[in-house]
Amino acid sequence: MNHAIRIHETGGPEKMVWEEVPLPSPKPGEALVRHKAVGLNYIDVYFRTGLYKAPSMPAIIGMEASGIVEAIGEGVTEVKIGDRVAYATGPIGAYAEARTIKADRLVKMPDAISFEQGAAMMLQGMTAAFLIKKCYAAKAGQTVLIHAAAGGVGLILSQWAKHLGCTVIGVVSTPEKAALVQQHGVDHALLTTDDIPARVKDITKGAMLPVVYDSVGKDSFLTSLDCLAPYGLMISYGNASGPVAIPDLGILAAKGSLYVTRPTLATYTAQRDDLVARANDLFEVVASGAVKIRVNQSYALKDAASAHIALEARKTTGSTILIP
Ligand code: NDP
Repeated sequence: MNHAIRIHETGGPEKMVWEEVPLPSPKPGEALVRHKAVGLNYIDVYFRTGLYKAPSMPAIIGMEASGIVEAIGEGVTEVKIGDRVAYATGPIGAYAEARTIKADRLVKMPDAISFEQGAAMMLQGMTAAFLIKKCYAAKAGQTVLIHAAAGGVGLILSQWAKHLGCTVIGVVSTPEKAALVQQHGVDHALLTTDDIPARVKDITKGAMLPVVYDSVGKDSFLTSLDCLAPYGLMISYGNASGPVAIPDLGILAAKGSLYVTRPTLATYTAQRDDLVARANDLFEVVASGAVKIRVNQSYALKDAASAHIALEARKTTGSTILIP
């Protein structure tokens, strides 16, 4: 018996239904993973609403989970039956009690990491890892700005930037979130209602920033450009407020020969070596205590709709897990 949350058409949280689905057998190169915990991520909302297109309907959404390998297909060398594993990758299908997935996308979890932590941190944590180690390797002494700093990715990224010796500016929507991020690496907590470029100018004594990590998208894109120093890098890695329409590129010239990138975890972990390296980067900072994984919300998987409502209403902080 296998149950999953499926959508038969895109739309609101009410489109997610808990139903019985077949238990697949692993094909060559695949493993069957019995989930212990499933991670909630903003990308799940994009697939549910149709901003990102599911390959077929009905679709089981979800990109992240931890669990135990229950069976393996022919030729699998990366994992064996009984291994504690986690993943943060497509294809979608994580909102299920069990699923098959390519074994080379699985990462073995160190004993010190619980299933709950694994499901809470792999996607958001490896995103923070690639952003801060590869996309723009922030260095000690630099000042960086992180949008949605109290969110899943944001809370990890803020702590990591601080650990690297950066001065961290975090943007959040409420004073409560501001208090939270200040306990997690943020030196200067700004509110979305603030004049953010003016505050950045003040904090950096006019120098402005080498990089902005922006997951909010439509509502923050132009503000982020105004926070950058000449040659600065705008990393637009999410669309929580809606997708960004590419403006006239002349705006990058006018604002100081700026760079913009729209990176994805999928590209940065497409090679297994990179996937394992980013997972190890993450395990290292979590094991050392430099980055704490805050599992601030937990729901039964069958109540995933309630979790989506909270996430979209900006009611969640840190990471959220769904328990099958
Ligand atoms: P979060 O926990 O960060 O939740 C989203 C947050 O965005 C909210 O809490 C809210 O924080 C802020 N926000 C700003 N405007 C809005 C809005 N209009 N509606 C809802 N939220 C808004 O989610 P995740 O940690 O799961 O993901 C963070 C972002 O990172 C997402 O945009 C996601 O798509 C992106 N991402 C990108 C990846 C990639 O490979 N490029 C991989 C993983 C995540 P506040 O109230 O403080 O403003």
